[in-house]
Amino acid sequence: MIELSNLEKRFGDNIVLNDINVAMAERSVTALVGPSGGGKSTLLRCINLLEIPTAGTVRIGSERLTFQPGGKVSSGDILKLRRQTGMVFQNFQLFPHRTAIENVMEGLVTVLKWPEDRARERALSLLEKVGMKHKAHAWPATLSGGQQQRVAIARALAPSPRVLLCDEPTSALDPELAQEVVDVLGQLAGEGTTMVMATHDLRLASKVAREVVFLEAGVIVEKGPVETVFGNPQHQRTKRFIATLR
Ligand code: ATP
Ligand code: MG
Repeated sequence: MIELSNLEKRFGDNIVLNDINVAMAERSVTALVGPSGGGKSTLLRCINLLEIPTAGTVRIGSERLTFQPGGKVSSGDILKLRRQTGMVFQNFQLFPHRTAIENVMEGLVTVLKWPEDRARERALSLLEKVGMKHKAHAWPATLSGGQQQRVAIARALAPSPRVLLCDEPTSALDPELAQEVVDVLGQLAGEGTTMVMATHDLRLASKVAREVVFLEAGVIVEKGPVETVFGNPQHQRTKRFIATLR
């Protein structure tokens, strides 16, 4: 359902993603792992086109865009592809002057022009799904990090994206609060939500993901089912990295 072909991202002379080829099936959950600076966040940001790839093709469902140096891609086309995705960030990034439910409703009302009633109903059912209905009218600052992240997940899911992208969704949280978020993401995975998550959190990766992509210095070193890449890695580099996580 998501297909990245010959994807390249350069910042000046620095090649940050080099000939990335990977396909992720509908309803699959993929963890992007690997050392800091390896390109995990950049890869996520190339999927939703917060970063524009310098070369290659991004496909999500039936939406496909090909990039080339000096080539022009219209902002309308970029938006069409981006709208197939929802994004969850390490630091939640809720709107501070909106309550939890207003955060979830915001995009539905302002971008998709849903009537308020319908948006409120959808937001409430998503807050319920992430265990936050009782805090619907709370301000972000009064919520714990784990609660804020669960509201952020509800917000990302509001427009029913085809894929949920998560960049280190648990790494700003202490272990107990991280567990709340792991539980919610695990539940979404069980319901068949397609997800791609960059993470250093082995618990998150092994509990929620079925597929792992190990990325180092902009190159996919190894990819495969979580049991293989974590349990029986094939490459020396992956073996060493996995050993440091245990
Ligand atoms: P971490 O585990 O620390 O989050 P990461 O795997 O997510 O690391 P990226 O943030 O994708 O790594 O960074 C990959 C490389 O791209 C790094 O060398 C980084 O310095 C570079 N990079 C990322 N964003 C930019 C930018 N906007 N301009 C220039 N270089 C960038
Ligand atoms: Mg990162």
